[in-house]
Amino acid sequence: MTNANQSHEDRSIRTVVPSCQFASDNTAGICPEAWDAMEAANQDGPTSPYGDDAWTSKAITMIREMFEVDCEVFFTFNGTAANSLALASLCQSYHSVIAHKIAHVETDECGGPEFFSNGTKLLLVDGDKGCVDCEEVQRIVRRRTDVHFPKPKVLSITQSTEMGTVYDDAALDRVQETVQRLGLMLHMDGARFCNAIAALNMPPKEMTWKRGVDVLCLGGTKLGMAVSDCVVFFDRELATEFKYRCKQAGQLASKMRFLSAPWVGVLQSGGWLQHAQHANAMAKRLAEGLGKLPGVSIVSPPEANAVFVDFGVGLADELRRRGWQFYDFISIGNSRLMCSWATTENEVDAFIGDVAQLTKSRA
Ligand SMILES: *Cc1c(COP(=O)(O)O)cnc(C)c1O
Repeated sequence: MTNANQSHEDRSIRTVVPSCQFASDNTAGICPEAWDAMEAANQDGPTSPYGDDAWTSKAITMIREMFEVDCEVFFTFNGTAANSLALASLCQSYHSVIAHKIAHVETDECGGPEFFSNGTKLLLVDGDKGCVDCEEVQRIVRRRTDVHFPKPKVLSITQSTEMGTVYDDAALDRVQETVQRLGLMLHMDGARFCNAIAALNMPPKEMTWKRGVDVLCLGGTKLGMAVSDCVVFFDRELATEFKYRCKQAGQLASKMRFLSAPWVGVLQSGGWLQHAQHANAMAKRLAEGLGKLPGVSIVSPPEANAVFVDFGVGLADELRRRGWQFYDFISIGNSRLMCSWATTENEVDAFIGDVAQLTKSRA
């Protein structure tokens, strides 16, 4: 709050201590398992740099075990780098990548995928609930096959999606069938992959390489790490020379062990799944509570850890004046409430309580 009058008013009506609450899942701190593993890595003392260490080997082994396959794994500082470099490694500059119009690669990476691939173009499609419409994908691929148009090479999907939904079994089948028919490669933006696994209760291999995913960007940051998302190549050929790409892009961490150790922490403890289940459960609790209130509508039942809500006119502002934080998504036209490993039932209930009070006073 910047306005003095406003902050005075705030104090008089505030019912909760503001934190960043529902703004994003990356407002949360570091989860205990990730923190403990970093501390343990620090206690090792001097260690070989650039990934030539026991923590990194162990993390890679555990990620291979998670996916039950001999994949290639690279750690990056964030998801934008993971996506951009992964897509660049699949494409020549004259290729194109098909993605949903609200995909993070399109709306939130400042042109990173295009930049790192030296000009590969993103082609956008629509689709319900943030999932690509496979008919549209086919249309866009078949529309032009001449040399004047960037050749479609990759389909990029987000799991779970930017809308807090998931590609379920049937949707994954449709995607796989589509990329096979059209000869596309498949990239999965898994910034919230673990939330999708928690939602569908599906073995990670069934959501990835068994469904034709060539490369997955597996998010650790929103799951509860400080930094660290990784690029997982299921087609190992595609990983050839990827380490040079990482280094050139400033994504080869010299103290790699502090990016990899947290993965050992969350994988060994099972925390990766528990935290994702918790975040999803908090979103569900939030949606159930809010859905009962007059004048508030849930855009669609949350399938992962995001809830999109239509608060109607003015209510979102009143909630913000009480110290609650969340974003409005102009492209979707609603408020987004994001839950994380650190979201508490008390926080959720206090929010629902405030909304109930405000809607009652308006009725
Ligand atoms: C957060 C997020 C990313 C990664 O963003 P960074 O800020 O670069 O870590 C990628 N994809 C999706 C869908 C995301 O929500």
